[in-house]
Amino acid sequence: MSSEASMIEVQALTKAYGLMPVLRGLDLQIPRGQFVALLGPNGSGKSTLLRLLAGLSRPNSGRILIGGWELPKEAAAVRGQIGMVAHKPLLYENLTARENLAFFGRLYNIPEDKLDGRIEDALQRVGLVKRADDLARAFSRGMQQRLSIARALLHNPHVLLLDEPYTGLDQDACRTLDTLLKEAHSAGHTIVMTTHELERAAALADRAVILARGKLHYDMQTTNLDGLKLATDYATITH
Ligand code: ADP
Ligand code: MG
Repeated sequence: MSSEASMIEVQALTKAYGLMPVLRGLDLQIPRGQFVALLGPNGSGKSTLLRLLAGLSRPNSGRILIGGWELPKEAAAVRGQIGMVAHKPLLYENLTARENLAFFGRLYNIPEDKLDGRIEDALQRVGLVKRADDLARAFSRGMQQRLSIARALLHNPHVLLLDEPYTGLDQDACRTLDTLLKEAHSAGHTIVMTTHELERAAALADRAVILARGKLHYDMQTTNLDGLKLATDYATITH
């Protein structure tokens, strides 16, 4: 572990698919506990960046450190510090909520004597205790999203990565997610969330960055930034 202060440290990161460059020398430092909204048009590379941060994909060049651990060399250590909520919920439809969490808890190597407690804790945090023994397949999109978040929180990771978590949620489920994210933020998790919801980004996150043409072209603290100002800036940057 190095002594670098940032929870997430990205230097000169490049990633191409075949001949197509997606990230072209991206730099990003995120202090511990910060909530960053990662914005950008479709295809700008937001999911690519999250997958790189999660150690699920390898860069062509550049450095990524998570909590001082370097990727891809120390990917195993990094995975233990990261909870990922991908765009599609990674759940087993024929298992109950509790069984899903038990399955992923074993994948994360949570000791058996601690597993039940962690599962109850995670179910509590996302408000699914009463539905814990229902099959995931019977869950609405909002409930599946909450279960995905419970899965991401199960091993109590330092870092939460969320890829467009609001997509497909109704108003109620969006508000539930707002509350969940606020709680995760107060609990001290470092959060990176991609979204097209500029209003929510301005309200929830500490900082908004815009990915365009392979680099970050915008980096703003959200103090004194409302949804309208962010939307105007966004339109200018991504024009
Ligand atoms: P975003 O999440 O911002 O919409 P992505 O990171 O999904 O963008 O994609 C960025 C670009 O990389 C797009 O042009 C996409 O088609 C391409 N891309 C993403 N994943 C792959 C892949 N596995 N193989 C080839 N091209 C990919
Ligand atoms: Mg994406």
